[in-house]
Amino acid sequence: MSKIAANISGVRAEIQRAAAAAGRNANDIMLLAVSKGQPVDAVAEARDAGLRDFGESYLQEALGKIAALCEEPLCWHFLGPVQSNKTRGIAEHFSWLHSLDRLAIAERLSRQRPADRPPLQVCLQVNVDGEASKSGVAPEALKDLALAVSVLPRLRLRGLMAIPRPRSGQPAQRRPFRELAALLADLRRASPRLAGLDTLSMGMSADLEAAVLEGSTLVRVGAAIFGPRL
Ligand SMILES: *Cc1c(COP(=O)(O)O)cnc(C)c1O
Repeated sequence: MSKIAANISGVRAEIQRAAAAAGRNANDIMLLAVSKGQPVDAVAEARDAGLRDFGESYLQEALGKIAALCEEPLCWHFLGPVQSNKTRGIAEHFSWLHSLDRLAIAERLSRQRPADRPPLQVCLQVNVDGEASKSGVAPEALKDLALAVSVLPRLRLRGLMAIPRPRSGQPAQRRPFRELAALLADLRRASPRLAGLDTLSMGMSADLEAAVLEGSTLVRVGAAIFGPRL
């Protein structure tokens, strides 16, 4: 077994353990392999080990890999900050965007999404730690943004994403994830237009167990699958 295949088995086992501890079905948790900073060969190895969903944070780097693997039925997720000059590339080449935090960007993406592709699946990134330097919408502004995004024709709002600052120890790690889950529950109750939101994109290599315990439906795992980035 390749190193990457062995790592994937280990991550799946960790998801399984956390899901069991939470009384959840591990099949309800998507494993997204974060391949930013990794070469095409590493993505191909993870694909051979059965993964189909890959996450990237830098558009130019991602487009090279997407082109190199275009024969494959892979699903690409964009995770990084989105400037307006990046929206066309994201709209044309990705299936998901996890880091949406501004209406102007959402409107551009909806206009630019090609007619022959299904709507772009989006999560709103929430700044759960209130750090001024971080991207993400403030919790107070979340509902208005969600309602506005939910009516854009070529986007499909799926849920929320957060990247909490690193914390040590599971109780501390769980707190921001619990807050994100509560924000999603509030949105679902706030309007029939938001009642179908079903995605909590939370948990990375260092805190995925804590995230699964708090209801994550999609963990974004880089280093624990691929090792250190270039
Ligand atoms: C890099 C990155 C990850 C993966 O982080 P690891 O610690 O390598 O698992 C997950 N989510 C986002 C948004 C990232 O930028």
